[in-house]
Amino acid sequence: MKYNDLITYLNCKDIYFELNKMTKELVSFNIGGPADIVIYPTKVEEIIEIVQFLANNKIKYIFLGNGTNTIFPDNGYSGVVISTKKLNSIFICNDSIICLCGANISDCCVFAYHNCLSGIEFAYGIPGSIGGFVYMNASAFNHSASDVVYKTKVLDILSFDVFDIILDEHQYSAKHSIFMNNKNYFIISTELKLRKSNKNDIYIKMQENMSKRKKSQPLDYPSAGSVFKRPQNGYASKLIDDAGLKGKRIGGATVSEKHAGFIVNSNNATFSDVIALVDLIKMDVKNKYGILLEEEIIFIE
Ligand SMILES: Cc1cc2nc3c(=O)[nH]c(=O)nc-3n(C[C@H](O)[C@H](O)[C@H](O)COP(=O)(O)OP(=O)(O)OC[C@H]3O[C@@H](n4cnc5c(N)ncnc54)[C@H](O)[C@@H]3O)c2cc1C
Repeated sequence: MKYNDLITYLNCKDIYFELNKMTKELVSFNIGGPADIVIYPTKVEEIIEIVQFLANNKIKYIFLGNGTNTIFPDNGYSGVVISTKKLNSIFICNDSIICLCGANISDCCVFAYHNCLSGIEFAYGIPGSIGGFVYMNASAFNHSASDVVYKTKVLDILSFDVFDIILDEHQYSAKHSIFMNNKNYFIISTELKLRKSNKNDIYIKMQENMSKRKKSQPLDYPSAGSVFKRPQNGYASKLIDDAGLKGKRIGGATVSEKHAGFIVNSNNATFSDVIALVDLIKMDVKNKYGILLEEEIIFIE
């Protein structure tokens, strides 16, 4: 079998993996067929070794955080998925917190709160990992990752060098980072620069943000969050709503009635249902308003 050596290697190193894992179980959209192998490293050294092994053996792979901005095809992924879920430690260092890539964003917010550190309350409730947060320059309530990221430890998967990049080197702009252009970079951990504040004030902000989220987002259906990036002047959700597309359905994929920027998996949607609905939205909005929406969700080929 194609993966015999890899399986022997993982067993020998006692690294947990799953064969033919349904990717729908790895992503929040609940869509996607089997991936050949999903590997769950628990230590940074293991990631480096696994990446070296895969490169030496010319095996195709991708990294996945919490899978809340990603969708896999119905026929799955022919390759290895490296899940960062088990690399989830969070440490404190003066007024900063250092989060390993797989740490849950909300867990980082709660950790900051317990240490009376303010600045990341805006992200409370974003369901991704810190790796995804840094990669996507995740944003909410007029704040973004770029407001709190101080430096990121990176593994170059070609040279296997590990080094830090500072904020400016992240090349942040709206929903954009260096990691989208430079696919050789794996985010190991990131340091978030916060500030001491009153614990009760932090708590109130977090709760306010969470309740705004619950009011405005269709959290009762599987989705991958906002499908499109925000166009220059305005909001994708407003354009989609104005185009009369709220509730528009293809197969099991529906434009949310609650938030037109979300496509929800309302009834066993397939990858092709989502693609068809995305194409229809882009065409309608372009025809009506002359604006070409750009996808934020990552569609794995
Ligand atoms: C209900 C809901 C609400 C949401 N609300 C928001 C919101 O308010 N604001 C917002 O910005 N987003 C929101 N999102 C989208 C999503 O949660 C964020 O973009 C989040 O930051 C993605 O993190 P993730 O770990 O799930 O990323 P994934 O989907 O796992 O990965 C996204 C990309 O990052 C790459 N990646 C992940 N980890 C690493 C790593 N360690 N090194 C290198 N590359 C890596 C992956 O390869 C992939 O290309 C929402 C999603 C849902 C489902």
